[in-house]
Amino acid sequence: MVARHDQTSDPELLAALLQARRGTAFFARKLNELSDAELDGDSLLPGWTRRHITAHIGYNARAIARLVEWAATGVETPMYPSTEVRDHEIGFGATLSPIALRHLFDHSAVHLNVEWRDLPEDAWHHKVRTIQGREVPATETVWMRSREVWMHAIDLDNGASFRDIPAPVLERLLRDITGAWKTRGTDKGLVLRVTDQALTVGDTTSDSPTVVSGPLAAVVEWAAGRGSSGVTATTTGPAGSNGTATSNGRVPAAPKWI
Ligand code: ZN
Repeated sequence: MVARHDQTSDPELLAALLQARRGTAFFARKLNELSDAELDGDSLLPGWTRRHITAHIGYNARAIARLVEWAATGVETPMYPSTEVRDHEIGFGATLSPIALRHLFDHSAVHLNVEWRDLPEDAWHHKVRTIQGREVPATETVWMRSREVWMHAIDLDNGASFRDIPAPVLERLLRDITGAWKTRGTDKGLVLRVTDQALTVGDTTSDSPTVVSGPLAAVVEWAAGRGSSGVTATTTGPAGSNGTATSNGRVPAAPKWI
């Protein structure tokens, strides 16, 4: 029997599901504002048109639905056979007719939502594996989708901005990004100061850090490699006989994230 409501009653998970569904609705709104001809236009991602973004979001929903099905059945169904297959699929999807591309987005989003809705309470804790090889509980699929729909709605480049993303989503994005830097050791000497949240992250033990500061939305936009409007950079020299020297400088490019 098909359920009409989420099977989970975990409040944190339900809140995450709401965030992902709102992000999907937000992406749908930005996509629907574009005419068929405008789909051919550039996105914010180098080498990708809006068609590539839309195809990617559609196939991403299918890939995440495969993980949810894996959690439900115990039968291993990976997101994609390989990253090459994923990239090839996006390239193919970008050549679809506008109507087919819009259907791909709509149908895949509805399908994923049904898989989430019908996943039994305990199956949410079953382990699945992401394309990066991480073993995660099925609950993680909600965040994996959330960050895709919110960020790529902006990448469609037709008016959405990081200020449209809810603060809890921005905070988690920032943790993901700075966590990836830390793992790779690319955050040395870099501190991020979020002025509207009293939040400081990064290499806070450095004695001559470059501090990038601004409101949460601007800091995340910069950290995600989407531009430096709204942030400033300050570099403090190491303490010497003349004390510390602080200078305001050009905002550096953020370390690579993905
Ligand atoms: Zn993506």
